[in-house]
Amino acid sequence: MKVTDHIKKAKETLFSFEILPPLKGKNVQSIFDGIDPLMEFKPKFVNVTYHREEYVYKERENGLLEKIAIRKRPGTVGICAAIMNKYQVDAVPHLICGGFSKEETENALIDLQFLGIDNVLALRGDSIKTESSFRPHKDGHQYAVDLIGQVSEMNSGSYQMDDIQLAPTDFCIGAAGYPEKHFEAMNLSTDLQYLKAKVDAGAEYIVTQMFFDNSKYFEFVEACRKIGITVPIIPGLKPIKSMNHISFLPKFFHIDYPEELSKELLKCKNNAEVTAVGVEWGIHQSKELKAANVPCIHYYTMSNSSSVKSIAKEIF
Ligand code: FAD
Repeated sequence: MKVTDHIKKAKETLFSFEILPPLKGKNVQSIFDGIDPLMEFKPKFVNVTYHREEYVYKERENGLLEKIAIRKRPGTVGICAAIMNKYQVDAVPHLICGGFSKEETENALIDLQFLGIDNVLALRGDSIKTESSFRPHKDGHQYAVDLIGQVSEMNSGSYQMDDIQLAPTDFCIGAAGYPEKHFEAMNLSTDLQYLKAKVDAGAEYIVTQMFFDNSKYFEFVEACRKIGITVPIIPGLKPIKSMNHISFLPKFFHIDYPEELSKELLKCKNNAEVTAVGVEWGIHQSKELKAANVPCIHYYTMSNSSSVKSIAKEIF
């Protein structure tokens, strides 16, 4: 079922979460171990992130360096199939521009359609470590809006092979939004205009980047509504879990901690204390968002569901 239909049918705020594919070599049980503890809260959909290849240089016998592509995590198709088969819940694969030609994207979408996948979250993806800025595949897409355009075209029966009439797909397309602005955007206003372009191109709902200050989300929703973005905007929350997260999350995701939270984090001496603060803060954020009747709260588990479980127990 489409995410937008789940939202339309719902009488109260829904619960959903995102998982990372496990590192290569781990078995399917490692995926289920992360999902099992959260199923009692009846998620309506489970997102599966996509991770690009990385490049490393290996020295050959002749002393020359060879550039080698390494995939640390598998793709999403098999994992989505496993999730849908075991839990009968909608799995939402993340689809990225980076590393894909339009034809490869089309092929991936055809596979997803055969699987019975109804939703995709369409993203640009970040630059890989060896690139200073994002570089698209030479036959691929530069921005998420272009990828969304391709999925929308397939939804109207227009494929890359334009001489053949093919059956239209029927994907519900999600897009990413940034309450604290995407780090490359000139300002929030241009970022919002590009977000509107994604909705105009066919995105039917938005999932936000994590944020720790609910007022940023509420202001973001208001700003979106002002420029005519009317689709559901699902807040994304991440419970802080470790001492390392304290500096990693703001650095990697370009977000700020509100002062009240940073004061509590500064008192923490170990991971257990950070986890406790993260759960308390997640409960506080979730209660306020639920009271504001948001369509769904989407939790980033980052392969560790225990904190999300502690929060969900209090909220759903
Ligand atoms: P875009 O919407 O293309 O925007 C990228 C930047 O370009 C922004 O600064 C925007 O303002 C600007 N821009 C957009 N359109 C134009 C235009 N036409 N002209 C000029 N500038 C423009 N990454 C992964 O690799 N895998 C994942 O699974 C993944 N999941 C995510 C899930 C969520 C909910 C979120 C919020 C992010 C996720 N990301 C993931 C990270 C995401 O790929 C990065 O944040 C990426 O840098 C931007 O992706 P986007 O889809 O928002 O890009």
